[in-house]
Amino acid sequence: MAAPKVAVVGAGVIGLSTALCITETCPSCSVTVLSDQFSPNTTSDVAAGMLIPHTYPGTPIHVQKQWFKETFTYLFAISNSAEASEAGIHLVSGWQVFKNSPKEELPFWSDVVLGFRVMSKAELQKFPQHQLGHAFTTLKCDCPPYLLWLEKRLKATGVQIYTRKVSDLWELHGEYNVVVNCTGIGACQLVGDEKLFPVRGQVLKVHAPWVKTFIRDGDGLTYIYPGIHRVTLGGTREKENWSLTPDPGTTKDIFDRCCSLEPSLRGAQDIKVKVGLRPSRQHVRLQKEVLSQGGVKLPVVHNYGHGAGGFSVHRGTAKEAARLVGECISALQGSSSRAKL
Ligand code: FAD
Repeated sequence: MAAPKVAVVGAGVIGLSTALCITETCPSCSVTVLSDQFSPNTTSDVAAGMLIPHTYPGTPIHVQKQWFKETFTYLFAISNSAEASEAGIHLVSGWQVFKNSPKEELPFWSDVVLGFRVMSKAELQKFPQHQLGHAFTTLKCDCPPYLLWLEKRLKATGVQIYTRKVSDLWELHGEYNVVVNCTGIGACQLVGDEKLFPVRGQVLKVHAPWVKTFIRDGDGLTYIYPGIHRVTLGGTREKENWSLTPDPGTTKDIFDRCCSLEPSLRGAQDIKVKVGLRPSRQHVRLQKEVLSQGGVKLPVVHNYGHGAGGFSVHRGTAKEAARLVGECISALQGSSSRAKL
């Protein structure tokens, strides 16, 4: 069989990182990325990009922890290299504070982030309305630079990147041997997945360079995440809301909530409002499927539905998707050599 041709559909953090993992695990493959939108117009561009996992109720915790650990290790190495600033990856320390005791005493990811500990009484004085909190250091991706860095790495390894809207995965069967579906919320329409739904998130990206420490309130509805150039203030979680139009009332509400945690934000300038639709599901769809029409088959690997935590687990799920692509290629090579006998 000639070099297997793999198409990755989608150019958010999941599609680009999956394409990169495929080039690493299958150097003989010819990889193409097809997408109707690229940075800065994807959901991934709107995200805060903090490595604090979201919990997927339908996925075993040890699997989620493995995905997070692989992602953390990968980005930690980038943060510790000369590439860090171009890739937009940096360490950030801060606090997660609670008004009431959280459900779990220790989150499953507490031994993956760095220096996780209970906050001292002195630290808690900054948050008079909160009872307790955790302090730790984690990583943050500045999302548009990270997406551009991934695109640059893909181009350097010879990956072709084309603007194309795919209406049906089957339309790719004559051109590609394996298709990888990384279309995020686009999978609702593309594959009619009824388990996938949007959770709308509105955030503010502000200029407040004196804010260096992250603050996350409880389960993360209100947060302040400082990046390299701007601070992300959040947020909202609006299930089944498809609107991409910023809501001025929500902007004021987010700003007030964040100022009550960090009063100095009243001096923030150049407030930009962004909205994104989290591609949400009970569990990430990370599996193989074989499409078939009239005896012709097309192996597909799905990798979408990362909800509120795509950045936190992207490298782990990309590695698993690349492994599944490898299995599809082995099966195709097995059947083509059997056909020659
Ligand atoms: P997307 O970025 O939406 O990419 C999908 C790609 O598929 C796009 O390029 C699109 O154009 C393409 N596409 C779709 N349909 C088609 C089609 N038919 N044909 C061709 N191309 C198609 N996660 C974290 O881990 N940490 C955070 O701090 C964080 N903060 C967030 C804050 C907000 C406000 C939001 C909205 C999300 C946040 N997330 C965070 C979640 C994270 O953004 C998502 O999990 C992640 O971006 C999903 O990536 P994706 O590549 O699957 O989707």
